[in-house]
Amino acid sequence: MTEVLDRIASHLVGLRMPRALEALDHTVQQIEKGELSTLEAIDSLLAEELSVRESRRIGVAMMTARLTPPKTLEGFDFAFQPSLDRDRIMALAQLDFIERTEVVHFLGPPGTGKSHLAVALGVAAVKAGKSVYRCTLAELIEALSRSEREGRLVEKIRFYSRASLLIIDEIGYLPITTGGANLFFQLVNARYEKGAMILTSNRGFAEWGDVFGDPVVATALLDRLLHHAVVVQIEGASYRLRSHADLIPEHVRTNAPISPPPPKRRRGRPPKNRKIEMT
Ligand code: ADP
Ligand code: MG
Repeated sequence: MTEVLDRIASHLVGLRMPRALEALDHTVQQIEKGELSTLEAIDSLLAEELSVRESRRIGVAMMTARLTPPKTLEGFDFAFQPSLDRDRIMALAQLDFIERTEVVHFLGPPGTGKSHLAVALGVAAVKAGKSVYRCTLAELIEALSRSEREGRLVEKIRFYSRASLLIIDEIGYLPITTGGANLFFQLVNARYEKGAMILTSNRGFAEWGDVFGDPVVATALLDRLLHHAVVVQIEGASYRLRSHADLIPEHVRTNAPISPPPPKRRRGRPPKNRKIEMT
């Protein structure tokens, strides 16, 4: 009996199953006490090992995908953002859009949960075993420009084309040079109808000419990015500013257009101990 146990233990070491090895003695005791049948014991040892491996895989994949800080759909307060159709987001979480290599656009003003939803869908995709990669548009263009200078653009585009879901965050915050827009176009072209994307932007499509500094490239980009696309428009207040409503001018709080009306100046200074994160 001990001999067999020793052999099982060394098999588990050879197979690199540390969690099952750890649980072995206790499981054998459970069999001896009649708490588990032999089959149940095998099942429980394998299940323990599998669940440890699965959570490690998910942890590594989330880091590699740069899905940090991690967000979930369970952690999203839909009541705060009534313009958002919860069922529609939950349908996206079924991930069929990845199979269909579609592009999901989250559009809306700052703080309305665009990045949160994009990351949460990315996390759902990682859990389902899909390869995911997330970056901001500025990071993407910076990486592509560097690779171009080093003569490795093709390789880099291949890298960004590999993931079954590419999340490109923060389109529209920073102006893009014509060179940058061309590089982005090459990537979009490489992924077109081959891989799914989630894009987030605080600017409407009509403003893409300004964002990319060139209406011709912007039109070519939109042609591909809207062909098989799901557009989710969020109209609402910033979640970041929700607890500072009294300090924020009306037009910022409600994400109303900036002009007109001009913001009213508040008299006096706001209390020093309040921090406002406005990115
Ligand atoms: P955006 O990308 O639209 O600027 P984020 O998704 O980064 O906004 O949201 C800003 C912060 O507020 C994040 O920490 C995010 O998790 C949180 N947040 C935004 N909307 C919600 C919401 N409806 N429920 C819970 N947390 C939210
Ligand atoms: Mg964001």
